[in-house]
Amino acid sequence: MRLFQTVAGLRTYLATCRASKTIDCQIGLVPTMGALHSGHLSLVKRAREENTWVVVSIFVNPLQFGENEDLDNYPRSLERDLEECKAAEVDAIFLPSVGALYGTEDLSDKSRLFQVIPPPEMMARLCGAYRPGHFEGVATVVSKLFHIVQPDRAYFGQKDAQQLAILRQMAADLRFPVEVVGCPTVREADGLALSSRNRYLSLEERAIAPQLYRGLQAAKGLFEQGEMAREPLLEAVSLTLKKDARIEAQYIDLVHPATMEPLEVIETEGLLAIAAYLGKARLIDNLLLKTRRPIIAIDGPAGSGKTTVTPKVAEILGLLYLDTGAMYRAVTWLALDKKILINDEAAIAELVSQCTIRLEKPEILANNTPSLRVWINDQDVTTAIRSPNVTAYVSAIAAQKAVRATLVEQQRTYGRNGGVVMDGRDIGTYVFPDAELKIFLTASVQERARRRQIDLKEKGQGDFSLEQLEADIYERDKKDSSRAIAPLRQASDAIEINTDHLAIDTVIDQIVSLYREKIGISLTTDDVSPDHHETAD
Ligand code: AMP
Repeated sequence: MRLFQTVAGLRTYLATCRASKTIDCQIGLVPTMGALHSGHLSLVKRAREENTWVVVSIFVNPLQFGENEDLDNYPRSLERDLEECKAAEVDAIFLPSVGALYGTEDLSDKSRLFQVIPPPEMMARLCGAYRPGHFEGVATVVSKLFHIVQPDRAYFGQKDAQQLAILRQMAADLRFPVEVVGCPTVREADGLALSSRNRYLSLEERAIAPQLYRGLQAAKGLFEQGEMAREPLLEAVSLTLKKDARIEAQYIDLVHPATMEPLEVIETEGLLAIAAYLGKARLIDNLLLKTRRPIIAIDGPAGSGKTTVTPKVAEILGLLYLDTGAMYRAVTWLALDKKILINDEAAIAELVSQCTIRLEKPEILANNTPSLRVWINDQDVTTAIRSPNVTAYVSAIAAQKAVRATLVEQQRTYGRNGGVVMDGRDIGTYVFPDAELKIFLTASVQERARRRQIDLKEKGQGDFSLEQLEADIYERDKKDSSRAIAPLRQASDAIEINTDHLAIDTVIDQIVSLYREKIGISLTTDDVSPDHHETAD
């Protein structure tokens, strides 16, 4: 693990990283203020899984602290942080001084500073209303980090939901070529969200701190019984917090999670957020409440049965089968139709950014297989996208970064109101990380080779030995798990089904029952428990 205190040092290091792995180099950035805990480390872990290089910045940014806030006392534990990062296989730590980032040590006169100002509407509620200048400080420092590191992905916690929304908007509006990844809030066993500021709590305060989470849970309980209106939900939180006089609520609010606008009623999703003082500590917490229909994400290696199972599950449950393959095929068809060279990535990026793909609900086609009608730019290409020519080029198109980014956005738009089922390699980890039901279908290499052998024979495509097919599958798995774009990964909350000795219908039945079990429960949280629990110190 390398340590850098200067912009020049880090930039030079990253230039070497980029040069050393020309095609697949992906850089993940985790910005922090140090005093690392399992929440931070969950971001690092995710970055480690998804990138070739991981950079963690540790910088207590004076610009985001108000005059009477805790800048001087903010917890610092550099030595331990470095050990934790090393253990988490971080490649580089960026530890700049104030001067290295701002060109001056004195930030007292803000009229001399170049700052990034988020939209005032996004800062009008929640923490923005009580911490003037805070989000300007956050946006300024994060944009500096984005310029210096030029990461492919940057990781932020849902715990700071307003920060996440603002930074997402910043990356989109200022056209940073970075994907802002939101990660679930990591909590103690008793529900308290991990925070560096939990260290300010006395033992006695620590014992009552989970009351914030209980307040959110009380509102969630009401929401699950059908309460969508603002006042009763806020009242439920407020009543719970009032049970202990030492908790002094600063705000309890219900806003739209992306725009931060106040909500009178939850239509699709709402962010319920609290800030409260407990002794010296100012604690924040939040919960996402969603009304959308559930999403099923089915991931797994090639040959695990997912492409057979997924459309059937969709049909039985009346969900939309979001056939991503069809979307990539439609783009491929369009590129071929426009006579664009497949390796002209820039032209294809232009093409995909301007096209509209439409998928229509499953219907029974003439040959009785459930399928979709597929349009691209209002042209029906349902049949055309199955041509051998499209088949020959679709993988090359799907491997292009811009194609993937644009289509994932479209898939997420389809999924906004739920009611979809989708299969792939990283649907549960990346495309719909908040899917209500995640299935990871697997099968042994031997079994998959056996299935492939039968399949090839039936299609008259050749008689291959099992040894050769096993070797091919082994190689393909290795490639699929390590590829830069859409690597195969099993989500930690996915249910694994090994299909080795199962008939396809049994697999379908299992997924359908899992869905039916879950649909009775309105799943609303975006939280995880830490792999190991910390005690607040
Ligand atoms: P900080 O060091 O407080 O600036 O936090 C650095 C990053 O870690 C931010 O993106 C936070 O949202 C994230 N983070 C802090 N606490 C948690 C938590 N309990 N769970 C998940 N992420 C967190």
